[in-house]
Amino acid sequence: MRFTSIQKDRAGGVLIGQAIGDALGVPYEFGAPISVGEAAMIGGGLGPYAPGEWSDDTQMAICIAQASADGADLRTDAGLDEVAAGFLRWQTRGASDIGIQTSRVLNVARKSSGPLADVMTTAARAAAREGRAGNGALMRTSVVGLVDLGDPEATADVAARVSALTHADQRCIDSCVLWSEAVRVAVVEGRFDIRAGLSLIPEPRRTQWRELIDQAETQPPSAFDRNGFTVTAFQAAWSAIHATRHIEGPDQVEAALQTVIAIGHDTDTIAAIAGGLLGARYGVSGLPSDLVRRVNGWPGLRGRDLVGLALAIATGSQEPQYSGASMLSNYSPSLGVPHPDDCEVILGTESNLSRCGDLGVTAVVSLSRIGEPELAAAGVGSGKHAEVWLIDSENPAKNAHLAWTLTDAARTIVALRDQGERVLVHCVQAEHRTPAVALAYSRLRKAGPGAEARIEEAIGHRVDGLLWRTACQLNI
Ligand SMILES: [Mg+2]
Repeated sequence: MRFTSIQKDRAGGVLIGQAIGDALGVPYEFGAPISVGEAAMIGGGLGPYAPGEWSDDTQMAICIAQASADGADLRTDAGLDEVAAGFLRWQTRGASDIGIQTSRVLNVARKSSGPLADVMTTAARAAAREGRAGNGALMRTSVVGLVDLGDPEATADVAARVSALTHADQRCIDSCVLWSEAVRVAVVEGRFDIRAGLSLIPEPRRTQWRELIDQAETQPPSAFDRNGFTVTAFQAAWSAIHATRHIEGPDQVEAALQTVIAIGHDTDTIAAIAGGLLGARYGVSGLPSDLVRRVNGWPGLRGRDLVGLALAIATGSQEPQYSGASMLSNYSPSLGVPHPDDCEVILGTESNLSRCGDLGVTAVVSLSRIGEPELAAAGVGSGKHAEVWLIDSENPAKNAHLAWTLTDAARTIVALRDQGERVLVHCVQAEHRTPAVALAYSRLRKAGPGAEARIEEAIGHRVDGLLWRTACQLNI
């Protein structure tokens, strides 16, 4: 399947959207309920976790993602064995916490002989016969929506089989099929359709799920506060997305995540589930770049790595998709001038990344994609580097939420400045992206009229084009 630029943006948003929800929900897992708007990435929780650290939900999703990105075909038995092997490695080397049912199944599988996926599924079926139907498979299923973006049946089949590795109850499997298909549709078509997967599960369960979805849409999110069960976790996540549908554009992401976390109980899991679908719908460009910057977790990954992993699955390519290889262009003029409205913000190009020390820069906001060598050369801590998905193009179809993304980039600069950082803002050549975001920053800081001329003078050339015009019209 060939992807448009915006479909890639949305595919890249799935894992990172899940991780943001997870890390925002972690501090409140099984704790005292909080109000909408109070959730913050402060760490703590059951782990205890560092600020921005994701938990077992995203760790297990990464096991699935890595197997797929490494070339395993999850539609085959051999591919499922790879996922199962990944779960076992994770349990001993990385699991910061682990659900009761998952732990039990993995322990049985570890002592059994035979193909791993088979022995794991057999152990999971035994647990299912006791009526166990926890949310531990649903919490990691969003990424399955990327495995075969052109094929609903294949998506449903993989979702069912990956669920059954640890959670073989039919309700667990159905919830995973429905959620994975909703993610697939969101990536391909850019819309929410939680009912899209109904045709992929047999009657009479289809009727039952139709009623459960209706319930999630007619009752308030707070009704789904016992959400350790796969069905109520599904309802909690969807109810929060549905309840915030009046919020247009990417602002829905934070509204829905705050709403779902305020439900309480298994907060990281229901936010991880919701976050995967929200990321699929709005893409990397629609996720707050300051939150993407801050998430981190096992196995030593950052937000940008999750974007790269998701893209590798979606495109089936094992080439570095976002990070990894050097992406420096051969010619990139050096700039490195102070922002006219804030001398602690440095406007630059890719060349300036290797001069961060000279410039006294302590944090970087990249408006173009950079590789690991350039990030290493910049020498700022990994949590001090933000990346914004912003395409330098005159084609309005390339950036899904251009005004929002420009504003979001400016907000991230503000957040870094509020922490006392001296910030390099750069793209490749500072022709369009850097001046447009610099202007959004002036607007956000209420720097007064004439910012356009001041920025053009600072960077030494006239600016035009779609990004600049959009920044000129920002009303923030
Ligand atoms: Mg968790």
